[in-house]
This record gives sequence, structure tokens and C-alpha cells, in this order.
Amino acid sequence: MKAKKKFGQNFLIDNFYINSIIEAIDVFSTDLIIEIGPGHGALTKRLKEKGKKLIAYEVDVDLKPILNKYEDEKTEIIYQDFLTADLSIYKKAKNITIVGNLPYYITTPIIEHIIKEEINPKEMIMMVQKEVADRFLAEVHTKEYGYFTLFLRYFFDITRVINVPSSAFNPMPKVESTVIKLQRRENRPDIDIKQYEEVLKSSFSQKRKQLKNNLSGYDWDKVKEILASYNINEKARAEEIPEEVFIEIAKVINKDSL
Ligand code: SAM
Repeated sequence: MKAKKKFGQNFLIDNFYINSIIEAIDVFSTDLIIEIGPGHGALTKRLKEKGKKLIAYEVDVDLKPILNKYEDEKTEIIYQDFLTADLSIYKKAKNITIVGNLPYYITTPIIEHIIKEEINPKEMIMMVQKEVADRFLAEVHTKEYGYFTLFLRYFFDITRVINVPSSAFNPMPKVESTVIKLQRRENRPDIDIKQYEEVLKSSFSQKRKQLKNNLSGYDWDKVKEILASYNINEKARAEEIPEEVFIEIAKVINKDSL
């Protein structure tokens, strides 16, 4: 069957990397596993052996004849766009593990959907484009460090599992890939996440500008005080501000504090 570009179909064919993904999963026999985009079932057939139940979302109904063989009382395949899936039905599940070799053009919307639906997965093992992984894992003072790096870090501890060459797929994608592991962060900072998200978005809105310019709608005196307490120059740009400082800033300012 011809791979469909519009669905980001690059099927994993190298067993070494399939094993690396499966071995990275810390799943208990009581856990629910959700797979995003099973494709030809390269991961599905291995995930079936783990967890209590496996639910896989596949947007391409033409893959039904291939995926049918994996369905049983433990494994359900739902033919639906994952971005429209109502995940609230899983809120009662104690531990959820999400696995996906994601269609790269919707990596961020998929992660945002999972966060917004508040199902709070214990762990997510995801294959993403290498540049995207570099952004998720970025450290302060690097050009990859940005709004989504910090937003994601509020929810998850993120680690690189393995880089994957294009030759591990059929058809071969034009980009290199990376498997990352996102583990539920148990000690989340004590802040209003909506406010934090807004502050981060504003701070990184124009990366070349100083933080002061990007936060022009906020109470700058309060921000200045915090920067001074961390010995950070008030002319700093957002990429020079560590996570703990952003958390302090989000605690004390909002747009109404003017
Ligand atoms: N997991 C398989 C593997 O590793 O070989 C397939 C990976 S392929 C990169 C991505 C898969 O996600 C394809 O099967 C594609 O049809 C499916 N897909 C694309 N967009 C989707 C969406 N919005 N919801 C669910 N599945 C999607």
C-alpha cells in the first residue's frame, strides 16, 4: 500500500529502533496504553504485550485491512483523527502511557491536545523530528530555548532516548528523527499555569527583542526586581532567563497588575 504523505506516513522498518522504543517504556501490567498513528502496526504488535489495554488512534481507514489482525479483547483500534478524540473518557485511568511515532507536521498540536484534555499521562514515548526534540530539550542561552520548551517542562521531565536515522523508515523522511521520553513531573511549580503560559508566550514573542519590550503590557518594576535578585541584566532577552526565574516572574505579575 502506498504511503500517504498527507498523513505523514513514514513507517518504521528497523527492528533495532522498534526495540529501543519498546524498551524505553516503563509500563505496568495495569496501565492503559494509547498509541497515536499505528500505521502498519510496527509498534502496535509489541505494545499489545504490555499494559492492561491498548487503544490506538489511526486517521487512515485504508489501513484497516492491515491493522485488523491486531484487534482483540485487549486491543482496540479507533479510526479517528487523534486531534478530535475526546480523551476525557480516560481521566479515570490510573496510569496512562502514550506512545507514538508521530506525524511530524502535527507534533505540537498533538502534545497540546493531550495537555488540554487533562488526562495527565504518566509517560509519553514519542518519535519526533530531531529539531523539535532539540527544542523540547533546549537549555537556557541557546537559540532552541523557547516558549514551548518551558511550557512543556512544567508538565514533564524530558529525556532523549535515541536519535533515529532516516534509513530506519520506509519511505525515508527528509529529516532525522529522535525518540524522546516525557515523564509526568511530580513536583510541578506552584503557579497558575494559564498565567505562566501567557507570560512565556509574551516573553518569547519576538526573540531578538529584550524581555522588557516583550513584556511591555506587564508591571516591569516587579520583573526588574526579580531579575536583579538573580543578578540578571535588565536588558536580557528571554533566551537568557532560566526556568526558575520565569516561574518567579509568573507568580508576581499579570496583565492586570498595571
Ligand atoms: N507507528 C507507525 C510506525 O512507527 O511505523 C506509523 C508511523 S507514521 C510516521 C504516522 C502514522 O500516524 C500514520 O499511520 C498516519 O496515518 C497516522 N496519522 C497521521 N495523522 C494522524 C492523526 N491526526 N490522528 C491519528 N493518526 C494519524
